[in-house]
Amino acid sequence: VAQPRFGTLLVIGLGLIGGSFAAAIRQAGVCQQVLACDRNAQSLRIAKARGIIDDFRDQLSEAVAEADIIMLAVPILSMESVLLELSHFDLEGKIITDAGSSKRSLLEAAEVAFGEIPPNLVPGHPIAGSEKSGVEAAQADLFVGHKVLVTPHAMIDHEALAVVKALWLATGSEVLEMDVQRHDEVLAVTSHLPHLLAFSLVDTLATERDNQEIFRYAAGGFRDFTRIAASDPTMWHDIFIANKDAVLRALRDFTLDLDKLRAAIEAENGQYMLGVFTRAKVARDHFT
Ligand code: NAD
Repeated sequence: VAQPRFGTLLVIGLGLIGGSFAAAIRQAGVCQQVLACDRNAQSLRIAKARGIIDDFRDQLSEAVAEADIIMLAVPILSMESVLLELSHFDLEGKIITDAGSSKRSLLEAAEVAFGEIPPNLVPGHPIAGSEKSGVEAAQADLFVGHKVLVTPHAMIDHEALAVVKALWLATGSEVLEMDVQRHDEVLAVTSHLPHLLAFSLVDTLATERDNQEIFRYAAGGFRDFTRIAASDPTMWHDIFIANKDAVLRALRDFTLDLDKLRAAIEAENGQYMLGVFTRAKVARDHFT
């Protein structure tokens, strides 16, 4: 068995992502110890019983004092208050990282909490997950074969960056660096907009009269398109607020295109429709 390369990992927010990260790191054996804090005591007990973490601490101060690396996996709009709490402790020599789905908001939260972006803060985002949430859904192999985007900032400590990349690699993921702004724009179109459309479509159908009747006739296409509408409402509320600017830009582009399609249907403009559908099919066929 390989010797652990890193000291104590503390996961704050032991839900789907935090729990999966803890489990993966523990399984890989790269940290001496994996600890957790969560405001849900039940989650901590379940995680310890299932071997997802070595142990948990009730007091954040106690946990932070023991930690060498701190992973924040709380909902995005809770990042600021957790960073504020952390700012009261001695963080000398410790690395802070996160798994939040929007990255500019994280840097802004850090500036509020610390007055500047700390060099030992390494923002990250695993492009993996599911529509489930909570530690009960955590899996050690959640990140295997998935990409993790780390978004270094101008002040970053390169040793801290290397440690965070090594941890994600140990979870079986592929680590890529990306500019913060680019991250938020890419995720707005590839993840946030599709979730918005799925939530909106299912809500429209669900609030129709006789919706039970409608859902009974829904087939595979509906299932594929709307699976993500079962995602956690609070998490998505946070994401749309945190990444508001990029989401609004993506939504504006999309609604312009949708308006053109509506006009094409009205005018029975087959050439336009076939153009859109064919380009989309070719693009989707290339995506594995
Ligand atoms: P989750 O709801 O499963 O877990 C969040 C955990 O944080 C819960 O256990 C909750 O009790 C805890 N928590 C909330 N506020 C807290 C606080 N102030 N202090 C301590 N604990 C607190 O959510 P998740 O899906 O694991 O998401 C966590 C983070 O990961 C979010 O920032 C999300 O944007 C990001 N993320 C999620 C996915 C996904 O598909 N679910 C994918 C990538 C990134």
